[in-house]
Amino acid sequence: MEMKTDFLIIGSGVAGLTFALKVARHGTVAIVTKKGIMDSNTARAQGGIASVFGKLDSFDLHIEDTLASGDGLCNQEVVELVVKGGPQRIRELIDLGVQFNISKEEEDLPEPSLDLGQEGGHSRKRIVHANDMTGLELETVLVKHVHDHANIQVFENHMAIDLITVSTRMKRCMVTTTHEDFCCGAYVLDAETQTVHTFNAGITLLASGGAGKVYMYTSNPDIATGDGIAMSYRAGATVANLEFVQFHPTCLYHPEAKNFLISEAVRGEGGILVDTSGRRFMEAYDPQKDLACRDVVARAIDTELKKSGDDSVYLDISHKPADFVKQRFPNLYDKCLDFGVDMTAEPIPVVPAAHYMCGGVATDVMGRTDIQRLYAIGETACTGLHGANRLASNSLCEALVYADTAARQAVTDFKSNDAAMTAETFPWDEVGTTDSDELIMVSHNWDEIRRCMWNYVGIVRSDKRLARARRRLENIQAEIDEYYWGFRVAPDLIELRNIAMVAELIVKCAMHRKESRGLHYNIQYPQRDDRRWRKDTVLRRPFVG
Ligand SMILES: Cc1cc2nc3c(=O)[nH]c(=O)nc-3n(C[C@H](O)[C@H](O)[C@H](O)COP(=O)(O)OP(=O)(O)OC[C@H]3O[C@@H](n4cnc5c(N)ncnc54)[C@H](O)[C@@H]3O)c2cc1C
Repeated sequence: MEMKTDFLIIGSGVAGLTFALKVARHGTVAIVTKKGIMDSNTARAQGGIASVFGKLDSFDLHIEDTLASGDGLCNQEVVELVVKGGPQRIRELIDLGVQFNISKEEEDLPEPSLDLGQEGGHSRKRIVHANDMTGLELETVLVKHVHDHANIQVFENHMAIDLITVSTRMKRCMVTTTHEDFCCGAYVLDAETQTVHTFNAGITLLASGGAGKVYMYTSNPDIATGDGIAMSYRAGATVANLEFVQFHPTCLYHPEAKNFLISEAVRGEGGILVDTSGRRFMEAYDPQKDLACRDVVARAIDTELKKSGDDSVYLDISHKPADFVKQRFPNLYDKCLDFGVDMTAEPIPVVPAAHYMCGGVATDVMGRTDIQRLYAIGETACTGLHGANRLASNSLCEALVYADTAARQAVTDFKSNDAAMTAETFPWDEVGTTDSDELIMVSHNWDEIRRCMWNYVGIVRSDKRLARARRRLENIQAEIDEYYWGFRVAPDLIELRNIAMVAELIVKCAMHRKESRGLHYNIQYPQRDDRRWRKDTVLRRPFVG
């Protein structure tokens, strides 16, 4: 099937859905999403959205905190754009029907104010939240509006395989790029019918989220396989700063708990980290103790675990009144109880896990990639907001502000579009004609990549470990390339190709940076070196045309 649309959106998290609602007034919109519409990192977000509403807060303070966390690599213009744009985007969500918590003391006033949480690295209370399920509330409201919109069509279980650019269209070849290319849509696999469709679009938006699944332990759901980063790199776009992978310090440690995060807000409300003997240890690592930035806390836990040989450390909030804990963290409380942990009465066992990708597809301040008519926003993008380390809860704010900024630019771009650019695309070439009979190879390679990344490219890195990872990944890549073209494409195979590529790009970026900064820590170069390395790590595939 060939499908024509004005705006093609890849991904149905907060970034894709918000952008869709904004551009739908100007043209037809197709959202393709590889599983159900709600399957996203967004729906898992617990803590909330960082934004300036507090009486004691200011834009300058939020900017200062974001720059401090980014450790010298943030783009100041982008930081200002996102911080100053936050409150208006949150008011827009409230108008759409999102129910954020309001301050208890002001509940009865005619204009009650939002209840603000505190998280690590923030000098003021500024986390707007809907209990401890902020993302689910956002996603639910946005999905409702998207379904109600006559101009928006949603294609669930449709997985984008590759972008279509003018050079691929003309040469019918997936490896050539001139770097002066136009994007005119994507090839998309309908997972139910196993058919590849051509989606022809005036503007294409990548809103395909993060890449946590590249690592063995992650807080991310299964969709987070870095598809947007891999697709855009293959198409010739620039990707940047992939060495900066944020590890969340506190995921529930339990054999049956897959990806369950214990929000930073627990530490914001007075939770403390202790070891097996009940000893507090964060004061030995940072003056902000348990509220230090995530990378500091994750490294501290990693060090403690390596020293003690224990499987986990513990997060203890049992000293707070049980009613308060249950009311503030209803979801966490229930989930922990499901796994036999009563957080009101005992400490929660926790370990760090891959959580957020600060790098991604490089964009300008309007969300444009360097392939024309291809935009990237949300976690898949590298806008320059996070620098070397994301400040907690800045990502939802970034996705909202960039959905607005990029939508306005994309509409202008669309209106000045040369229709001929979207006129003709070739159908997907069924390179492999038979179904795979060796799926064991796919699952084996998945495991090997994720284990290799966890062991050698994790929280603490060294040149030797990175070199070892590179060698392993090169072998796996060669096997996948050989296998990929021999069989009909299938979701697992597409994702395997993507995680292998993203893993390779992370290693390349990490090997390139000969210093430690933000989330990237290499024991060979433990210091930050501003003279040589205060710059982004930028990768672009070589021109092979
Ligand atoms: C457990 C957890 C808690 C978090 N808590 C917070 C928080 O409190 N505050 C905060 O600011 N941030 C938080 N984050 C981060 C934040 O949730 C994400 O960065 C943000 O939601 C990303 O939104 P997105 O729209 O870019 O991507 P996502 O919400 O991940 O959506 C990506 C979409 O793309 C689709 N997709 C991917 N590949 C393809 C493909 N090939 N074809 C078609 N569709 C595809 C996916 O199915 C999905 O629909 C948290 C993340 C996690 C995992």
